Amino acid sequence: MGKTTGFMEINREQAIERDPIERIKDWKEYSAPFSDDMMQRQGARCMDCATPFCHIGMEIDGATSGCPIHNLIPEWNDLVYQGKWQEALKRLMKTNNFPEFTGRVCPAPCEGSCTVAISDPAVAIKNIERAIIDKGFAMGWIKPRIPKARTEKKVAIIGSGPAGLAAADQLNQAGHDVTVYERSDRAGGLLMYGIPNMKLDKEVVQRRINLLEEEGIKFLLNTEVGKDISPDQLKAQYDSVILCTGAQKPRNIMIPGREYQGIHYAMDYLTQATKKLLDGQDNDTLNAKGKDVIVIGGGDTGADCVATALRQGAKSVNQFSINPQLPLKRVEGNQWPAYPRVFSLEYAHKEAKEQFGKDGRQYSVQTKAFITDGRDAVQALFTVKMGKTRDQNGMFVYEEIPGSEEVWPAQLVIIAIGFEGPEQPLLNAFGVNLDQNKIDAPYGQFNTNVEGVFAAGDARRGQSLIVWAINEGREVAHCVDQYLMGKTTLPTVRAV
Ligand SMILES: Cc1cc2nc3c(=O)[nH]c(=O)nc-3n(C[C@H](O)[C@H](O)[C@H](O)COP(=O)(O)OP(=O)(O)OC[C@H]3O[C@@H](n4cnc5c(N)ncnc54)[C@H](O)[C@@H]3O)c2cc1C
Ligand code: SF4
Repeated sequence: MGKTTGFMEINREQAIERDPIERIKDWKEYSAPFSDDMMQRQGARCMDCATPFCHIGMEIDGATSGCPIHNLIPEWNDLVYQGKWQEALKRLMKTNNFPEFTGRVCPAPCEGSCTVAISDPAVAIKNIERAIIDKGFAMGWIKPRIPKARTEKKVAIIGSGPAGLAAADQLNQAGHDVTVYERSDRAGGLLMYGIPNMKLDKEVVQRRINLLEEEGIKFLLNTEVGKDISPDQLKAQYDSVILCTGAQKPRNIMIPGREYQGIHYAMDYLTQATKKLLDGQDNDTLNAKGKDVIVIGGGDTGADCVATALRQGAKSVNQFSINPQLPLKRVEGNQWPAYPRVFSLEYAHKEAKEQFGKDGRQYSVQTKAFITDGRDAVQALFTVKMGKTRDQNGMFVYEEIPGSEEVWPAQLVIIAIGFEGPEQPLLNAFGVNLDQNKIDAPYGQFNTNVEGVFAAGDARRGQSLIVWAINEGREVAHCVDQYLMGKTTLPTVRAV
């Protein structure tokens, strides 16, 4: 509960960020380390609210509210306040396999539903989470946990993103022989190739992979299931298979000029940037240096592209959103404890603002066509402004605003308008049923129509969050253990 009167006496403080102009000169994490004192003060703000909404983990009005893995937030807040860091770590690890990831990049739906946030800024839960796990690693408290007994059951997991890793961790701890198949050259899924290094250092990801390996999990990298090994071979070799292949099929934008050079998907762009950082591979066509860059898509993936372009030395960066700017405060219909749909200046936009004097976001913009330089390379974008209203049924409709046409110079365009779902060929090869492009495997059971084949994470749920991937990885492990052994002691929380 923290200090009884802490929430009345202490203001919210968050991790200090490195200076935006300095940090865009490198690829290191943008947040600076924070002190134990500061975190203890923040822990003191947890108010013993009796019904802690911070860990409800529910969908309210289409967005997640509260922590989906039901982290025992008030308990570890109190333990941090008391300086009992090792105890706090034990509590944290009960529900979260990878707090070093969520403590860095989770959008923290817990904070939106923190009871303090009804009247004051929320407890800095995410920073506290990170402080606990970072201290755990720094102090050497995190040690490989080698399972004492083995069951002789074999499980194959396809995909090494947070869902696959969480499932692997749980099932390995239950004594099963776990092999993770990954087509990339490094494990981690979007944690490794997708989320940029300045948000989540790749050494932090690799540290966890190394630990899981030490604990007995086998990683087969550069191995694409469906190409290097068939689904039938897997089914014959393993007692169970879990599909954690993500939902990385990009949504395209089909407008005149789409075929011109210089127009790329966000994932290709971000992956290339991380590969260059890790391996030194260069690719001029995917480099923003000296270019006018336009990112189409107003979401977080787009923001990561903005931050990447800034570090590559872009001449200008704009990010187009079809939606209007969010309000500065919660509006009617978006009340606590729902996730606050309010304007915020994320790390990338702070950096753009410092560099160019404005954050680069352009609202209510629809791209109508790409314009060429006459040699098949993109040179500019033709756009129009959109008005957003509701129709008679209350549904949102967008209408072009006459006379709002504009032309924007751009030699590099990044498409970041979301993902259609998982790639289908592998799913067809397994013969699993689909539900609106996603794998049909009901939440809470996670089994597909194919005997012994389960699914979890974005491949089942659609593009979501790391914390949901961890939730699904843990839950599918519970179900697979039950399937293999007829009983299970692996935990379940069964969020909805
Ligand atoms: C650019 C970007 C930034 C994001 N930032 C955040 C963030 O800041 N915070 C947050 O909470 N969420 C973020 N997300 C969302 C989050 O990363 C995903 O929801 C999460 O990674 C999903 O985990 P997953 O394990 O289901 O799938 P993924 O992480 O997508 O992993 C799937 C893995 O399966 C592998 N695979 C696919 N097919 C095969 C095959 N046939 N054989 C072998 N391997 C295969 C892929 O190579 C991949 O490694 C972001 C997403 C993107 C795209
Ligand atoms: S995992 Fe995310 S939602 Fe849960 S406590 Fe951490 S920051 Fe909050």
